[in-house]
Amino acid sequence: MDLDFPGILLTVTDVLEHLYCPRFTWFEKYQMLPEFQERRTKVQMGRTLHESREKNNRGYMRQRLQAVDKQIDVSLVSERYNLRGRIDEVLFFKDGTAGPLDYKFARDPGVIYRTLRFQSAIYAMLIQEHFGRPVPRGYVVYTRSNNFVRTIEYTSDDFREVGDILREMLNVIQNGHLPRRAPPSRCQDCCYRRICT
Ligand code: SF4
Repeated sequence: MDLDFPGILLTVTDVLEHLYCPRFTWFEKYQMLPEFQERRTKVQMGRTLHESREKNNRGYMRQRLQAVDKQIDVSLVSERYNLRGRIDEVLFFKDGTAGPLDYKFARDPGVIYRTLRFQSAIYAMLIQEHFGRPVPRGYVVYTRSNNFVRTIEYTSDDFREVGDILREMLNVIQNGHLPRRAPPSRCQDCCYRRICT
């Protein structure tokens, strides 16, 4: 899957926002009207969690999942997929495979939401390209459920869907095509609602 839109790098957040409403991509990346949302609390919580994890917990997940090695806080860029991302941990296994591990400051919801599958699949694509290893599954740790680990087994549909969304986003950014609206229930608190017609 080569996308061939040189110079554009999308983040996981960009993709998740596009899934919520494709017009966010149009406003933010084509009209260049950034979204102003209060995210400091979440970011701060994430940072605190991350710091304590780095200090106290360095080898724990690797042992629990029987990985032979891991890298922490891995920033990867892919020109091929027009993606960049920062992955909490990349685990390496004895059979030559690798996988992303992501910490969520939340309770385990009991299901794997579509957005989470997308996020994890994007990390998998970055790892696969950068490290040249198969990435058949990813892991999510829910810190508020006693560090419960949920495993995501990727399917070819996951990567096809990510490719379709990335292509759609890149077309919006390059060609300025105004995408479909989100369902009206999502518009209520949207910062673009006054100018979105
Ligand atoms: S107002 Fe609704 S359709 Fe428009 S950008 Fe916001 S969420 Fe999307």
